[in-house]
Amino acid sequence: MFKSNFHTHTIYCDGKNTPGEMAERAAELGFTALGFSGHAYTDFDLSYCMTPEETAKYITDVQNVKEQYAGRLNIYCGTELDYYSTLLPYDYDYTIGSVHYLHLGDDYAEVDHNAETQMNAAEKHFGGDYMKYAEKYFETVGDVAEKLRPDFIGHFDLVSKFNEGDCMFDSSDRRYVNAWKTAAERLCNAGIPFEINTGAIARGARKTPYPSPEIADFIDSRGGFFIVTSDCHNRDYLTCAFDYVAENYGRYNIVDFEEIIGRRKTDI
Ligand SMILES: [Zn+2]
Ligand SMILES: [Zn+2]
Repeated sequence: MFKSNFHTHTIYCDGKNTPGEMAERAAELGFTALGFSGHAYTDFDLSYCMTPEETAKYITDVQNVKEQYAGRLNIYCGTELDYYSTLLPYDYDYTIGSVHYLHLGDDYAEVDHNAETQMNAAEKHFGGDYMKYAEKYFETVGDVAEKLRPDFIGHFDLVSKFNEGDCMFDSSDRRYVNAWKTAAERLCNAGIPFEINTGAIARGARKTPYPSPEIADFIDSRGGFFIVTSDCHNRDYLTCAFDYVAENYGRYNIVDFEEIIGRRKTDI
């Protein structure tokens, strides 16, 4: 079983628990490492992210927890950047690169809110051609490594969140497949891990992690590698579906993210 999680949200953004409560549960579970990744500031939508003031408090709080657990549990202070985040001048232990919005005209259209929001944006900006919407999503994701220089890629195929069992669109559509292949290939070249993310399972939106098995196979075939995270917003789900991942994604190259951060620090 995986004994760490580097995608963790707290009360400073849209999570339910304090950093201290999360760390307490991680210690009970015998974790070796816990990384916090509060949602970075997006000035056009404050509903889920940390404002600059909240960011400062978050960093102080995580630092205190880090000291409190020294020698027992390695705590890391990271942030989940959105493609359209306003970058604040903080030196994080690591960052996640994610796409939660598409910038369409004057709109920042939310990808992960619900199916209707996606369909409305496809209607308004692409004349109802959902595949164009999906292409735009993967075009943006494909650019995440270059634009944000993150330490890993967040929920690569988030656009499929509401498509369990292909209920919204045909995931074998050639345009969809070509779009994710182009993005995945570009990101494999960046040499950073993709996450196998179980967060939507905890929130009841999906039964399987991101990315889909087809995408994971492709990434694997291109020499890409992975870390396992629960995109945790509630400490009761810190290891949500980790056993499912071990069973179904265990054949892929899953790396120790703590080692990667450690290596990077010694490089500098
Ligand atoms: Zn995210
Ligand atoms: Zn997240």
